[in-house]
Amino acid sequence: MIVLVVGDANADLSAPLERFPHEGDDAPLAGLAWGSGGAGTNVATAIARLGGRARLLARVGVDPAAEVALAAARREGVDLDAIQRDPTLATGLCFAAVSPGGERTFFSYRGANAALSRPAVDPLQGAGWLHVCGHALLAGSQRETTLALVAAAAERGLPVSLDLCLPLLRAAPALAQGLGPRLAVVFANELELAAIGEPLELALAALERGGAGLVAAKLGARGSRLAGAVRCGVPAFPVEARDTTGCGDAFAAGFIVASLRGAAPDVAARVGNAAGALAATRTGAAEVLPAREDVRALLAAHSSEQERFV
Ligand code: ADP
Repeated sequence: MIVLVVGDANADLSAPLERFPHEGDDAPLAGLAWGSGGAGTNVATAIARLGGRARLLARVGVDPAAEVALAAARREGVDLDAIQRDPTLATGLCFAAVSPGGERTFFSYRGANAALSRPAVDPLQGAGWLHVCGHALLAGSQRETTLALVAAAAERGLPVSLDLCLPLLRAAPALAQGLGPRLAVVFANELELAAIGEPLELALAALERGGAGLVAAKLGARGSRLAGAVRCGVPAFPVEARDTTGCGDAFAAGFIVASLRGAAPDVAARVGNAAGALAATRTGAAEVLPAREDVRALLAAHSSEQERFV
């Protein structure tokens, strides 16, 4: 069963700084790493690494950064036939400048992503699930295209999931809330939940009122929590966290892959927790997403038989 992922594809650059520059400075970098990034790329790549089938719907430019953005997904066998090339806008890019103390300063440009247009060929062909990354609903023709896909998926009875993001909650809270009845699952992390309401119970209740079938709250080292059709806490896997970039994308991928293999929501969340925990132990994003064997091994070491869902 193919999962259609709609979201951003970015080239991620990261560099440790010798010192944080002032305006007009000529700042030396102590290193430079290039990688694939953007939530769309991350989730599609994570699904493929977990043994699922993913198709990515995203738009990149015709610049060298496009190959960087798509390299991880291509390597893992994600279906890239629906990728669009924008003739004028640059590929989305995120540059993380890492200060000597570890603080990260981001410079990001969404570029071609926001210009995603309605595909000529139906991207839902053969799909069994549509996953929407929150950024895809932010602006422009990307938002129109994504809304049309959500409507088409709902019409065909396909499960649709949405992973919220802070910019969406700030820019269009009503849009995010209004989609609720069309969603099988809405994913939200701690910062997003706090932006919806505090304490956590209040935020979960607001998302439940929005009408999504299931609310999956990602709570970092505290694991996850489900609300809606199933209400329970799902414990985390204790790990030594090094870099939590991509944990939420790994969680969503694990949850979706396990659901498509017939896992009940609490088991799917447990698989998501395992994928998220492993992502936390590695530095980087799309290049270091956990593989199926690693998630199976972690699940097998802690519990009984949940590994059969991944
Ligand atoms: P996001 O990346 O969207 O902010 P989280 O940081 O909550 O999402 O991470 C997603 C999931 O990854 C969590 O629900 C949890 O299961 C797992 N995870 C994240 N950080 C840790 C950690 N430090 N220890 C164990 N599991 C973690």
